[in-house]
Amino acid sequence: MTQPVPPRALTIAGSDSGGGAGLQADLKTFLACGVHGMSAVTAVTVQNSLGVSEFHEIPAHLVAAQIESVVTDIGVGAAKTGMLASAEIIAAIADTVERLGVTPFVVDPVAASQHGDPLLRPDALDVLTRRLFPLATLVTPNLGEIKLLTGVEVRSRADLRAAADALLALGPRWALVKGGHLDGPESVDLLTDGNTEIELPAPRITTDHTHGSGDTLASATTAALARGYDLPAAVALGKRFVTGAVAHSFPLGAGLGPVGHFWRIRDWPEET
Ligand code: PLP
Repeated sequence: MTQPVPPRALTIAGSDSGGGAGLQADLKTFLACGVHGMSAVTAVTVQNSLGVSEFHEIPAHLVAAQIESVVTDIGVGAAKTGMLASAEIIAAIADTVERLGVTPFVVDPVAASQHGDPLLRPDALDVLTRRLFPLATLVTPNLGEIKLLTGVEVRSRADLRAAADALLALGPRWALVKGGHLDGPESVDLLTDGNTEIELPAPRITTDHTHGSGDTLASATTAALARGYDLPAAVALGKRFVTGAVAHSFPLGAGLGPVGHFWRIRDWPEET
């Protein structure tokens, strides 16, 4: 019997050989959120729990061709970006996403790993904000990325609004300012489009094993958008998914372990 076509989502991101972040995190999250996941690979990182030792960029025209191939045949209900590596790759993505009208479009402006390993060339920041941000339905930077992109330093919850304004001035429809690196018993994010302002608190979970948490929030939000939720509802669902994944994170290797992407999927022995 023919099954109905499920919602479909595309990640435009780098590969993490360790499987905790990057497009692997996105595809696992899409699966856990009931969405058919597709990928346009931007770069291949050599990576484990101790960090990124090197990466190789995919030629920009091949990144664009991957996007075009799936958009024109399979159809993409929502797309997100992660590690984009270079200015050439970002320009090719912007051209393609704009030409094909890919929307909703979530831009997670990944600049470096939690270990501090660079994932974006410094000369790519300008094209990221100038070309990609105006196409974004939502941008999801962390505090370090906000400083890098806007110059705004967020030291307390009171600074979240100024950061959001600086991000919205770059052209995205919505900005999610992730306050997770601030101190306090709660991890508060601010979501705004300049009119509506929504605070998203979540209990702070103490763990070192948060590798891939940013990718997972953005991809769970993208999955919800592909399922047809409006943006504030999708972000709330994304945050709920990543909070559960952080609560189910686990040690792996000698360094930082990943969040648990399969926390909502039942253990397979129970299925038999
Ligand atoms: N590797 C890739 C390919 C990524 O896209 C990312 C984050 O987006 C990372 C590594 C870093 O993940 P984290 O900062 O959570 O360790």
